[in-house]
Formats: sequence, C-alpha cells, structure tokens
Amino acid sequence: MTRLAILGSTGSIGTQALDVVAAHPSLFEVEVLSAHSNDTLLAEQARKFMPNAVIITDESKYASLKNALADLPIKVFVGTDALNDVVKWESVDTVLAAIVGIAGLPSTLSAVQAGKRVALANKETLVVAGDLVMRTAQESGAVIIPVDSEHSAIFQCLVGEDPEKVEKVILTASGGPFLGRKPNYLVNVKASHALQHPNWTMGAKITIDSATLMNKGLEMIEAKWLFGLKNEQIEVVVHPQSIIHSMVQFVDGSLKAQMGLPDMKLPIQYAIAYPQRIDNSYKRVDFRDFQKLTFEQPDYKTFRNLALAKEAMFRGGNIPCVMNAANELVVHSFLQNKISFIEMSDAIEIVMSKVSYIEYPTLEDYNNSDHEARIYAAELVKHSQLSH
Ligand code: NDP
Ligand code: MG
Repeated sequence: MTRLAILGSTGSIGTQALDVVAAHPSLFEVEVLSAHSNDTLLAEQARKFMPNAVIITDESKYASLKNALADLPIKVFVGTDALNDVVKWESVDTVLAAIVGIAGLPSTLSAVQAGKRVALANKETLVVAGDLVMRTAQESGAVIIPVDSEHSAIFQCLVGEDPEKVEKVILTASGGPFLGRKPNYLVNVKASHALQHPNWTMGAKITIDSATLMNKGLEMIEAKWLFGLKNEQIEVVVHPQSIIHSMVQFVDGSLKAQMGLPDMKLPIQYAIAYPQRIDNSYKRVDFRDFQKLTFEQPDYKTFRNLALAKEAMFRGGNIPCVMNAANELVVHSFLQNKISFIEMSDAIEIVMSKVSYIEYPTLEDYNNSDHEARIYAAELVKHSQLSH
C-alpha cells in the first residue's frame, strides 16, 4: 500500500491521479490532499478519499473548507508552510507534485530533502532550480519519477540501460493548435483559441505553453536535469499524432521509443506505482487509427519561445528561472487578454536580457531573480498594445 500526498489535487493532473487511485483501492491510500483556491472540490475529494489532512493555500478559503469538513476527522491546514511540513510526514510514502508554476518549488524541495519518493508533474521546479533539486535528491536519497509524458517515456526507455550509453534523447512535440501557422496568423490569436489543444486536455497555463511551444522548451530543461544530460544531447521533433511520447538513442545508433494513446493517466499511474506496472482497462492504441506517424522539425523562428528556452538552457545559471518567471507572468496576462500572443515572446526576451546573470544561484538567488523578472515583465505587460 502506497500512502500518497497529492499536491494540487484539484488540477488536471491531481484529479486524474485521484481517478487512478480510485481504480486501485488496494494499492493506494490518500494521506494528504492540497489545493489553492478550489475549496469546494477539495472538500468533495476529502469526503471521498478520507485523507489524514488537507491543505488550502489561499487563506481566504480556509474558513469555508474547515466548515465543510467539520463533521469529519480530517485535519485542515492553511498556507504554504503547511505544505512544506506535511510532505515530510512519516505517514507519506510518495508525494505527487502537481502544483503549477514556481509555487510548487518549496514543497517539492521539502519532499526531496526528506528523501521521499516524488512523482513530479511540476516541471517548473526543475526549470527554475534543477541543479539544486537534483543535488538535494542525491544527498537525501529521494527518488524522482517524472509524470510529464515525454519524461516518463524517456524514463521507461532507460530501464535496464546504462545512462552512460545514451547518445541523445528526442522529445516529441504535438506542435500544439498552431502547428504550421506563421507570425502573421499568430498576431491575432486570442486565449480562447490557444486553449484548444488538439490532443491533450490540461490546465490553462500548460495549454498556453503548448500553443507557444514554451512547454517543449521547459521540457528540454526538465530532461537535462532529470537525466543528467548535456544540452547538446537534447533534441525536439514535432510528431502531431502524439503516439510516440519520446525516444532515446543509444551509442550504437539503436533508438527506443515509448508509445501509447495521449492520456496522462498512463504516466501518472506509472509514476505512482513504479517499479510496478499495474493493469488498467484504458483504451489501447489501434494502429488502424494511426496509419501514419509523421515527424517534422520545429519552427523555431515562428515559435520563438522554444528558441528562447533553448537559449536559457545553454546560458544556464539563473536564466531559466528568469525566463520561467517572465513566462508565468505573461501567460497569466495573456489569459486575461492583457498581452498578445506574439508580445509574450517579446517580453520574455527582453526580461532575459535585463536581469543580471548569476552563474551558481542559491535558493535565495532564485527567489530574487524570479521576483525581479516578474517586475520587469509586469512593466512590459502594462505597455502592451492590448492595454491601450
Ligand atoms: P492546473 O492548473 O489544472 O492545476 C494546478 C493545481 O495547483 C491546482 O490544484 C491548483 O489549485 C494548484 N495551485 C495553483 N496555484 C497554486 C499556488 N500558488 N499554491 C499552491 N497550489 C496552487 O494545472 P495542471 O494540473 O495542468 O498542471 C500541474 C503541473 O503539472 C504543471 O506544472 C504542469 O506543467 C504539469 N503537467 C501537466 C500536464 C497536464 O496534462 N495537465 C502534463 C504534464 C505536466 P486550485 O485549482 O484549487 O486553485
Ligand atoms: Mg509533456
């Protein structure tokens, strides 16, 4: 029986993880659930899964959550410090880190420090502070298992292999809703349009990142840290059918791919059950439905966020953190129609050139860089053509 802390249980990953748990009651037990603002859903989940504790990080929702669970023996905590504490509990075996953005960094780091098994969905944690997180995991013995489908694919391809014999990894990208489009089309796209992903249903932030290809850039950096790769060993190929989730090429030229239908419950299940493979009755791939699997080069000129993320990966230090902060802010603003699709890349590029470079940042440096980048980015949003 694996006892889980699911951080971000009200999100796209969190709710799908609870579906997996509900399907396997003899394998998983929910010890902790957390949400930010959705107290109603959190209370509903708590009633169903009866965790030992729930945490809400938006303080204004604490009273109503506490009230909703008053008849149950469930501890109700509030605030981010509570998150950092509960992940260390003896009674927690595995932490599913499914909070979105840098907000997930402190609790993920705390779980890693405590030597927990961490099923990691929150890619921004590795983008911002991958060196720190992986070093800490080495010291504490924490095992990090990726939930992101591409990284789960690479992880699965590496089982039984010598990591030294990896020549490169190839991350597949669906290309998002604007595949094949050019800048003259992208200038006019609105958030409602960008939120329609062809193959995956996900939270709003990652759906926009998928439309700009920033998501693939974040995933390059995530892969670098998870698998200890050199920048040059990471490639991206556009594969619109999303059947191959990623590939590993070895020193003998042999290429391994992991395939499946695009359904996040598969990598979630793999990560929380690892090293077991557990059965399910989800739909299987039928190759009669996919007679052509196609591949093409990403368009770095049109989707500048991918080029910017690659640049951030090569520059290293605090630059991925700066890029991530600027991106989080502009994506939030884009969702509120305060900045255009193309201006998001302009803003990220400017912010990346403004914040001073730190080669070996501490956690405090990361927090400062994040803060500084957000101030610059907010200023640029104010001057956006949509704000006038
Ligand atoms: P969602 O937006 O659907 O969910 C985010 C979760 O985090 C919610 O439970 C939300 O709470 C909580 N949350 C938001 N802000 C805060 C905060 N400041 N402090 C604490 N908790 C917070 O996101 P997704 O589930 O789509 O994504 C989660 C992570 O997984 C992201 O890092 C994403 O990149 C990654 N990922 C997601 C995939 C997907 O298919 N969705 C695929 C691969 C990776 P509430 O809703 O209550 O406000
Ligand atoms: Mg992914």
